[in-house]
Amino acid sequence: MTDAIPLARPVIGRAEEERVLDVLRSGQLSLGPQLPAFERAFAARLKVPHASAVSSGTAGLHLALRAVGVSDGAEVVTSPFSFVASANAVLYERARPVFADIDPVTLNIDPDAAAAAAGERTAALLPVHIFGYPADVPALERLGRPIVEDACEALGAVHPDGVAVGGRGHPAVFGFYANKQLTTGEGGMVTVADESIKQRIDSERNQGRASDMGWLDHDRLGFNYRLSDIACAIGLAQLARLEAMLAGRRRVAELYREALAGIEGLELPCPDEGGRRRGWFVFVVQLPRGIDRDATVPALAQHGIQSKPYLPAIHLMSFYRGLFGHREGEFPVCEDIAARSIALPFFPEMSEGQVERVAHTLGRLLRGEQP
Ligand SMILES: *Cc1c(COP(=O)(O)O)cnc(C)c1O
Repeated sequence: MTDAIPLARPVIGRAEEERVLDVLRSGQLSLGPQLPAFERAFAARLKVPHASAVSSGTAGLHLALRAVGVSDGAEVVTSPFSFVASANAVLYERARPVFADIDPVTLNIDPDAAAAAAGERTAALLPVHIFGYPADVPALERLGRPIVEDACEALGAVHPDGVAVGGRGHPAVFGFYANKQLTTGEGGMVTVADESIKQRIDSERNQGRASDMGWLDHDRLGFNYRLSDIACAIGLAQLARLEAMLAGRRRVAELYREALAGIEGLELPCPDEGGRRRGWFVFVVQLPRGIDRDATVPALAQHGIQSKPYLPAIHLMSFYRGLFGHREGEFPVCEDIAARSIALPFFPEMSEGQVERVAHTLGRLLRGEQP
């Protein structure tokens, strides 16, 4: 059989290797010079005043929610069509994620549904830029609530007014797991305009230590959400090649669009519209109604093609059903999309031949032919 095509694959080269070696040889593996250097370079890339590096996107979401005042008993309006981390981070503060249905085209939270879900106890809105497509944050801003953006899938995305996703000033959280646009293995970053929020996050990621105090005085509860200098060094090397990696993803997305265009009933990611630009993260399609998505995944695997149901609706996960009594039919747009979505192999160095093989195999499977 021909080589298997993975779902994702990071771009790692000599630059990453050399920077990691430099850190290892320096003897300062954490809280060294790489941390502020990575933060400053990342903030500059997004044209935002501040950035705080953290150990994961999830950790960043937790600290950002705390920083805007989410606590016990509060509600946070968010999307049920997301990676579970965005809702879990709300639960860490014993607050409640209140879901609002998504737009069937952009797959992001529908601002009207968010407005309807917001109430007296709403402490924050948590839009997710799903699959790298900018959520309508300007519309959410008009609701007059604190906003935290889950931008973990959206590095490189741009709002209609030309502002980078993550550059509007609200705390915005990026993730650097190995399948993201930029990776440090594990890691994350919170961008923000307000310096006091940056200071609070910097303190809470480090056990609540005040920046001007010694190691032993801690004036608030904190966590260990630090990102090591080794990871930050990888991040700096990745930032230097970010434009090329994003361009690689855009190229593969265009190849997919052409190769999949003829498959009847298949829904492709929405094209950029109204000045929005997607920061390509994954290539997710919705299979035609009537096709068994969960049988398609192993069928593709038999032909050496990795794929994944992506994403399941959060409110229908057993843990969330058990906590809040969610039922099928509550968020019909999300549920329809979640039941038909499948992520195809997608990474910057994917070849035209690999894209064609995926498209050819998927097309034949959907027509009921032997690939
Ligand atoms: C990747 C991701 C996160 C964060 O994931 P970590 O593994 O904690 O870095 C959060 N939200 C979304 C939507 C993601 O895709």
